[in-house]
Amino acid sequence: MRTALITGGGRGIGAAISKKLAKDGYRILLTYCNSSKPAEMVVDEIRDSGIDAVAVNCDVTDPREVALLATHPWVSEKIDALVLNHGRYDRIDAKDLDIEHLRRTMSTNFDGAFLIWDSVKNHLTDSARICVIGSQLGTRGSTHGADYSASKAALEVWAKSLAMKLGPEGKRVNIVAPGFVDTDILAGDSDEKRAIRIEEVPLKRIGTPEDIAHTVSFLLSEKSAYITGVVVNVNGGLYLP
Ligand code: NDP
Repeated sequence: MRTALITGGGRGIGAAISKKLAKDGYRILLTYCNSSKPAEMVVDEIRDSGIDAVAVNCDVTDPREVALLATHPWVSEKIDALVLNHGRYDRIDAKDLDIEHLRRTMSTNFDGAFLIWDSVKNHLTDSARICVIGSQLGTRGSTHGADYSASKAALEVWAKSLAMKLGPEGKRVNIVAPGFVDTDILAGDSDEKRAIRIEEVPLKRIGTPEDIAHTVSFLLSEKSAYITGVVVNVNGGLYLP
């Protein structure tokens, strides 16, 4: 059976990706950091559908925890699909950003993705597919999240570099850049703020985690066999570069 590893796969967009890839026939190895209960619920739901799944606690900023994840038997048995989905976004005013916070964001969003990749890169199948969850803010920038935008921009360019390097080996790497998606990241919005966001989006709705999961599923499938190194914007037309 094929194996998919999804970081932050226990809630939000990551949970939708875990469930969709289970439907696609992967057994699911998902990681969580602080939220064990939602992660276990996702695992239970997937197992109830007859697909194997397991949740592993792994703070991507801690090299020891990442190294431990790499010793999981399903990793040794080779990974077919790697989804680097974890992320933090703290909405700090660009003028108030300090170096500690910048380091914390980079350490999670960028270094964490690198550490995971580095620890499993020798356990990928020959035709492995990697999908990195970026953000529209990684291209556009942000007044409240300059650190987040910088981390996502770094992720995108790093992923494109991997796509170039791994292409000749038969491995593909792509990036999904979501717009506004209904998860805890937007949970603090007032009704007014939400209405403003919806008004901004040409398709006139906030995205769902499933909108992102379906795109990830496509990029990991044979249907996208000739696509690598691209950024797919899934944002209802919000930002058309
Ligand atoms: P959530 O805040 O709902 O989920 C974030 C996920 O990242 C959680 O699973 C969390 O795990 C995990 N995570 C955070 N810090 C760490 C860490 N140090 N180590 C391991 N895992 C960690 O966000 P979303 O589901 O919305 O976001 C998923 C991805 O999509 C992120 O990369 C985000 O930047 C991106 N994105 C989201 C958008 C949106 O509007 N929602 C827009 C654009 C991009 P735990 O809960 O266990 O700590």
